This record gives sequence, C-alpha cells and structure tokens, in this order.
Amino acid sequence: MNRFDRILSEHQLEIRRAALTTLQINVGRKCNQACRHCHVDAAPWRTEMMSEATALRVGEWITDHRPRIVDITGGAPELSAHFRYFVKTAKAAGADVIDRNNLTILTEPGFEDLPEFLAENDVEVIASLPCYSAENVNRQRGNGVFDKSILGLRKLNGLGYGTIHPLHLVYNPLGANLPGPQAELEADYKEALERDFGIVFNKLLTITNQPIARFAEDLRKQGLWDDYLELLANSFNPETLSGLMCRNTISIGYEGEVFDCDFNQMLEMPPPDERFTFLWNITPDQLPGARVSTGVHCLACTAGAGSSCTGALS
Ligand code: SF4
Ligand code: SF4
Repeated sequence: MNRFDRILSEHQLEIRRAALTTLQINVGRKCNQACRHCHVDAAPWRTEMMSEATALRVGEWITDHRPRIVDITGGAPELSAHFRYFVKTAKAAGADVIDRNNLTILTEPGFEDLPEFLAENDVEVIASLPCYSAENVNRQRGNGVFDKSILGLRKLNGLGYGTIHPLHLVYNPLGANLPGPQAELEADYKEALERDFGIVFNKLLTITNQPIARFAEDLRKQGLWDDYLELLANSFNPETLSGLMCRNTISIGYEGEVFDCDFNQMLEMPPPDERFTFLWNITPDQLPGARVSTGVHCLACTAGAGSSCTGALS
C-alpha cells in the first residue's frame, strides 16, 4: 500500500467518483516552452500530438454526452491543429470551455489572431504566471518569459479578459514548498500587476507542485525528495477530499485514453475499472461511485489547503 492510501485508510477515508462535470483533454506534449516544474515534460521538441481521427471521436463524444466543462490542456494546447475544432464543438454542445494558456503562445508567430478567437468564443483563460516578479518567472519558465507573459496579458485585457471574459492566473511555488494562502497571494498579485503593468485578472489559483516528471527529477537532484514527501504527508488535510478533481473530471490523453486526472495520465496509471479504456468506450453514467487510481503523488492534492486544476480546495 502506498503512503497516500495508508493515510486515507488511517482516516477511514476513500475516494469515489461523483457525477462528471469536466472533460479534460490533453492534446499532446508539444509546448513552445520547457519549464522546470512541468509535470507533463512538455517541450518544443516533443512530437506526441492528437491525430485528426482521435480528435473527431472526442468531438463526437462531447456532442453526444455534453459535459458541462471542456478543459483543454497540453503542452500548449493551442499548438494542436484541433484546438479550434474542440472549442467550437464544445461551445456548440453548450459547454463552458477552458484554455490552459501559457501566455507566451499569444506572442508566437502564427498565433496573432488567437486572442480574438478566444474572446469571440468566450473561452475561459487559465494562464500560468508563477510570480509577479520577472526574476522568479524567468528562473522557473525560461529567460524572457515574464516580458512575453505581460505582453500576452495586455492583449487579453485589451479584448475584455479580466472584465468581460474570465481570466484566471495560476501560481505554483518555485521550490519544494506548499503554496501560501490563495486569497492573500491573489491580493498581492492584483496589487502588483495593476500597479506595475496596468493588468487586471479575475482569480488566482494556487496549485501545489506534483512530485512527478521534471519537478520530481529536480527534487531528486537537489536531495529534496524525502523532505518534500514528508511535508506533503504531514500536511494531509481530510477536508480536501470532497473537492478533489478526480471526483468530477476525466482526463484523456492524446490517443483518447481515459485517466482519473492529468497527473495519473503522466504516470500512465489507468483507472481501476477495466471498462474505462478510451473515451468512446465510456458514458458519464458509469462514473459515479467508481474508484480512482491513487499513488504517493496524490499527497500533493490533499496537502494544506489542497490543490486542483481550479486552485485550492478548502
Ligand atoms: S508548464 Fe506549461 S508552459 Fe511550461 S512546459 Fe509545461 S506545458 Fe509548457
Ligand atoms: S493526483 Fe489525481 S488521482 Fe490523485 S488525488 Fe490528485 S486528482 Fe486525485
């Protein structure tokens, strides 16, 4: 039994799925950046991307089953040839659409009309900006990323993002720590970004770094793996369980394979129910009550105030 499951059993708790609200589509590993903490190991040189045939099958499933939210991620999801197809298909099916946007994609050649496309389709933008200081952002995400991110945010603000259209920012700690309190960090971000750059946004979402992929490698290299796991385990908060994203979300990979969350996808941990193979083999009514696959990395979701794709949980 892994450490997470042991802690759950000590508290006499288990994770079971509730009704589906969100389909999260990971369109592939290609990204225009290669950030240090990336849990996807995404980078410009990655080639694994969703094919047209798979995208069409996913689109059909969205039309048939109408999930309330379609959350498009990657890599940089906009690099997928099918990104706009997913936005249009999900909108036509009545879903709210989320674009997990890294901001620098908005300034890449060939993406000049992306901000207008997002605004015209009222796509919710959830954008990574791990700090409001240039030095910290560049250290985690690469040289020049901060200035490009500010440029991207200005473009979005100019189209009504942060006022008419939803624009949320994502904070994740630079090192092996838990995020600070979400409301306080949000107030700091709002003050600094408005004062220094005239930028507005709606909410700040704090996300705990998952001890997987590139961040796990970094922890091991620095000899911080055990300390980080200890911190996560000692910060276990049972109140986070009801809000875990694996209860109401399914995550699919670029081949349409089903996972309980994007982290399990990266670890290639399929759901325990053997029927949950590819998206087109399941229906939302099979999900409530189903168990999810858990591992030691789950401790990041239940530590402190908790962590999910929509920020802190409690
Ligand atoms: S963290 Fe986001 S922006 Fe950075 S490499 Fe990974 S997918 Fe790309
Ligand atoms: S890592 Fe995934 S499966 Fe584990 S608790 Fe978090 S959302 Fe659930």
